[in-house]
Amino acid sequence: MKSLFFGGVHPEGRKELSADAPLTAMALPARLAVPLRQHIGAPCKPLVAVGDAVRMGQKIGDGEGLCVPVHAPVSGVVEAIEDRPHPSGGACPAIVIKNDFLDTPDPAVRPAANPDQLTPDELITILHDAGLAGMGGAAFPTDVKARTGMGRTETLILNACECEPYITADDALLRARPGDVLRGLALLARILDPKRIVVGMEDNKPEAAGQVKEALKDYPNVELKLLPTRYPQGAEKQLIQAVTGRQVPSGGLPKDAGCAVFNAATAYAACRAVYEGMPLIERVVTVTGEGVNQPRNLAVRVGTSFQEVVAAAGGLADDVWKVLSGGPMMGVAQGDLSVPVTKAVNAVVCLSSAQNGESDDPVCIRCGKCLEVCPIRLEPLYLYRFANAGDLDALKRLHLTDCIECGCCAYACPGKVPLVEGFRKGKLALKEGAK
Ligand code: SF4
Ligand code: SF4
Repeated sequence: MKSLFFGGVHPEGRKELSADAPLTAMALPARLAVPLRQHIGAPCKPLVAVGDAVRMGQKIGDGEGLCVPVHAPVSGVVEAIEDRPHPSGGACPAIVIKNDFLDTPDPAVRPAANPDQLTPDELITILHDAGLAGMGGAAFPTDVKARTGMGRTETLILNACECEPYITADDALLRARPGDVLRGLALLARILDPKRIVVGMEDNKPEAAGQVKEALKDYPNVELKLLPTRYPQGAEKQLIQAVTGRQVPSGGLPKDAGCAVFNAATAYAACRAVYEGMPLIERVVTVTGEGVNQPRNLAVRVGTSFQEVVAAAGGLADDVWKVLSGGPMMGVAQGDLSVPVTKAVNAVVCLSSAQNGESDDPVCIRCGKCLEVCPIRLEPLYLYRFANAGDLDALKRLHLTDCIECGCCAYACPGKVPLVEGFRKGKLALKEGAK
């Protein structure tokens, strides 16, 4: 079938490593470190002090502006508030909780009264208070996205593509809880009042598609659109183009194309927030790759270390080469496995030395392949050159900030040029230049 968006690549999926693993709850760790920065925007400030007793679901950090709160993932005692390594890089203050293994819920954890009567404003307040932020990786506060889409969303899209190789977290969730994901989607639809509601899913998840189809019998106004598998179809702009044929303009947002896109895990979290009163303290994480012994799909409490998540999947294999937060195309390599799972971490992918495709001697042979595959129609080879030269004017002129760091160009590059690394440096330079 023809691709429904420009560019893209078709990397080996390797989803079979974990695709059959059922969704299972991971045993709770003795200590959890909850980072105060888990979403795009202002980080939270702690609402608790060392020595305080906390209950599961209690709000322990909050802030103003573009910010959603963080909650205690277990009951126990606050042991420390200190800088801890963060999976997206660098360090960040985190609230360390010693687990009492009682899971005593906070009194605030209770289902909304009359959930079907809630107004859009009331629903948005619940999503905010539950700390929802996009769980597909972007971690943009869900309440803000929902509010800005009010009155301007023609098409509401549930992003069930999960196009990154290796990752099967949304797949496992959709197979296990399709009805709850759709209930969450229905809540988002009540806020946005769209004309059309679509579940966008790639055609490499037949079992999840079957489950969703069955569950959709209760939602006759929602369509399931199976899309030909192609990376990066799960990126917002590409998914919008694949589903509606519309293009989001350069520098624009989905609302500029009359669309709003929410990840399947975010919809599930919305369902739990409203119908159980449960804030976002747990998420599905795929632990997989040739570098881990028993790939799994685990329901993991936020704040659990990668080390413990990997141990729950049988530990690292002997020839592990690299551990990533996220998939091989967009993931971030981790040097320290004490980093905690955050709301945005959908996978811990452990690659073995056989997957090492890096080169000690990268060289551009000017083949133009990177131009052909860029889904944003950028010019990666020139962007890379100007990023290395620190030419900020050229980077602006060539729209570096539109780059979604999908990694298609680097994947296609026969010269093994570390293009995305260069773009990240260039973006940092642009940010600092703007200051
Ligand atoms: S794909 Fe690689 S080698 Fe080819 S033009 Fe782009 S950067 Fe150069
Ligand atoms: S330039 Fe950016 S958006 Fe284009 S393929 Fe490369 S990483 Fe993806």
